[in-house]
Amino acid sequence: MRMPKVLILWKGVARRLFLYCLHRKYVEESIQQRKGACKRCGACCRLFLKKCVYLNFDQDGNALCLKYKGFRMPNCRIFPIDKRDITDRDMISETPCGFYFGEEPGGAAN
Ligand code: SF4
Repeated sequence: MRMPKVLILWKGVARRLFLYCLHRKYVEESIQQRKGACKRCGACCRLFLKKCVYLNFDQDGNALCLKYKGFRMPNCRIFPIDKRDITDRDMISETPCGFYFGEEPGGAAN
């Protein structure tokens, strides 16, 4: 039986928190391998709830975190830790995340 999407996404949230709290070295090393940059699509702000209460959009349609300069949960600050996070995130958005691991999606190898 396939796990419901919402449970997969919540599992990802718990996993990131677990990694951040107990496997910080893995998190740091994996993030060093991360390439690209955030495109401010806001997809990762919809992994736990349908929409984070602090997610807003500017006049150009770019995601805007109302807490960006204040306290943000580790899940928000470190996303994506690895390819698994991108896979989770791709469940709710067809446009690719600006970050990637390994080869650039649809682009040349790095
Ligand atoms: S899903 Fe990726 S590109 Fe979109 S806001 Fe999150 S980190 Fe940025």
